[in-house]
Amino acid sequence: MFLTPHTSAAIWIATKVADPFLAFLFGIISHFILDIIPHGDEELFNYKKDSKFVYFLKVALTDIAIATVIVVFYVMKKPGIDRAIVSWAVLGAWFPDLLAISAETFKFKFLTWYLRIHSRIHSLINWRYSIVYGVPFQIIVTIILLKASF
Ligand SMILES: [Zn+2]
Repeated sequence: MFLTPHTSAAIWIATKVADPFLAFLFGIISHFILDIIPHGDEELFNYKKDSKFVYFLKVALTDIAIATVIVVFYVMKKPGIDRAIVSWAVLGAWFPDLLAISAETFKFKFLTWYLRIHSRIHSLINWRYSIVYGVPFQIIVTIILLKASF
């Protein structure tokens, strides 16, 4: 799943939790819960297979930019929110993918077990569909979670 819906889940968590460690932990848990739901972008992340890496990089940077804008917009709209809690929750929600991407990019052998778990979570529900539906689905998830955060 893109980091944008993960980020909106983190923002929602930040409205419920006051402890930085719990915000980080629930951010991680929310990541895996969202990853279980088939979300239509699984093929995009097979960027190692061919020359799709540059394309993947562009999509990933756009995703991070959108996610960051949402966080900045949210903390500006909600001045009462604890920014440290938001940051910890977002960090937790991003952490599983950052770890997976680092492990794949830098070929960290000691994280092979983690890559296996991360990819297995994506296939717990064995149903794949096109990114044409995956992107709108993820936008809807993002909007629902953001609406719940205001
Ligand atoms: Zn993930």
